[in-house]
Amino acid sequence: MTGLLIHNARVLTMDDTNPTAPAVAVREGRVRLVGGVEAARAAAGPGAVEVDAGGRTVLPGFIDPHNHLLSTAESLAAVDARYPRVGSAADLVAAIAAEAERTPAGQWIRAFSMDDAKYPGGRPTRRHLDEATTEHPVIVYHVSGHQAVVNSAALAWSGIGEDVPDPAGGSFVRDEGGRLTGMVTDAAMELLLPLAVDIGCHGPNFHTALPTEHLLGWLSDAAGPYLSAGVTTVCDPQVSARELRVYRAARAAGTLPLRTFGMPLSHQLDSLTHAGLASPFGDDWLRLTGMKFYSDGTLLGGTAKFSVPYGEHGQFPGSLYHHPDQLVDLVTRAAKEGWQVAIHTQGDAAMEHTLDAIASAARVSGPDPRPRIEHCGYPTVEQAKRFTDHGVIPVNQPNFLHDSGGDFLRRLGDRAHRLQPMREEIDLGLRPVLSSDSFVSSLRPMDTVANAVCRTTREGADIGREQGVTLHEALRAHTLDAAHALGVEDRLGALRPGYLADLVVLDADVESLPQDRLREVNAWLTVLDGEVVHQAG
Ligand SMILES: [Zn+2]
Repeated sequence: MTGLLIHNARVLTMDDTNPTAPAVAVREGRVRLVGGVEAARAAAGPGAVEVDAGGRTVLPGFIDPHNHLLSTAESLAAVDARYPRVGSAADLVAAIAAEAERTPAGQWIRAFSMDDAKYPGGRPTRRHLDEATTEHPVIVYHVSGHQAVVNSAALAWSGIGEDVPDPAGGSFVRDEGGRLTGMVTDAAMELLLPLAVDIGCHGPNFHTALPTEHLLGWLSDAAGPYLSAGVTTVCDPQVSARELRVYRAARAAGTLPLRTFGMPLSHQLDSLTHAGLASPFGDDWLRLTGMKFYSDGTLLGGTAKFSVPYGEHGQFPGSLYHHPDQLVDLVTRAAKEGWQVAIHTQGDAAMEHTLDAIASAARVSGPDPRPRIEHCGYPTVEQAKRFTDHGVIPVNQPNFLHDSGGDFLRRLGDRAHRLQPMREEIDLGLRPVLSSDSFVSSLRPMDTVANAVCRTTREGADIGREQGVTLHEALRAHTLDAAHALGVEDRLGALRPGYLADLVVLDADVESLPQDRLREVNAWLTVLDGEVVHQAG
């Protein structure tokens, strides 16, 4: 392997002993030197490739500790129904009709991330989708992942008639005349497209049964979007047999696009315990780093559990996945086996149960358990202070403050300004991290960084500006502190000699950009394991 020298750069190393430098040298998959250009040239070795960065910012490769890699790959291969790209039922019909022209008749068409609460003419129905195609079964997933709308061909394909009963935990929405509208919720979605795994009531099931060769192809195709955004490591926060089989096959075939860590969902605790398996397990390409649990539901789905119900009319009481005692038992058993625990938690009522579980787990886990709280929507001031007792890692996703902040302000009122209180968490001495929750939101780290700094909604309203962080804090939370959350901060997340050579040259000097332009920034050059894997055209 020839060496690589990047010079004339503004290297932000995340190494407090050597925070900035003009050059970095890489050889044989490792960072060799971060410092002046002549020393770096010598360290890169004879014949090294030299890159003049033209004053651009160089960072450790972005680490996204909560990114549903396989589901993102699936959604990249499907119709992108995100707002504002699709902003009305008519837009949706046009997008599906265009896809139908490219798709053989009879094959499923799937679309992701519909946000129809923002559509001016109301919700789309099967009749709209029937205008797009009657030759293909169509399913359009809502941005929450808890609802979908299907066309008549999809109902027919699945053998669902007007007399279908609602399954437990789901419904087929009907119009005033009692006819199916095509809108389906939760468990009813499973009657349309079969699922690959049974996860009980441990979380939402989006593990759709699809041919492995399709999933492998889509995963390989996802390399471009990830690497051109500068992401070099992800952690898939909800791994089942479906995901791990595909990741293992991709690893064996040499098509895994980036370092892939994962957290098995909690329904697998007993079987993994029987196998003697706990985290960490694997290597620096494919690794299990923790176990994922669900405390409550989602903010957008109306199922987050707050002490005071939310919604414009207080109509959302929220719901829990486990009885509080069961959550404590489950999390404690996992911690005892050695698992790092990661608990999806949004509302303050659910946060109380999550903190009880973390306190119980702390009594049986090792000296540095690093419990994670995923999304970590609304910790009260008191609860945030309790995070410091156990070194809780809040896993923030400020893209939601931007994408759905208007809905949060309407549904939560003043409470919306305290969502993801990252400023406060840092000031308490915690090490919160940034992540995307892709496929639900943009996988681009600079979108996430911009939203953590700016805290404005898509419509331009402030949402807890006082909880905004500095650019440097945001970059650190998406690199070194993200590596800390994954237990690999001794070799990833910083640019220092001996570290794995994952780095990104951004296409700007981000320190000199105004805040409102941060989200335009992409990767100019991405290096993964010492190899250039993306170079802007
Ligand atoms: Zn997620």
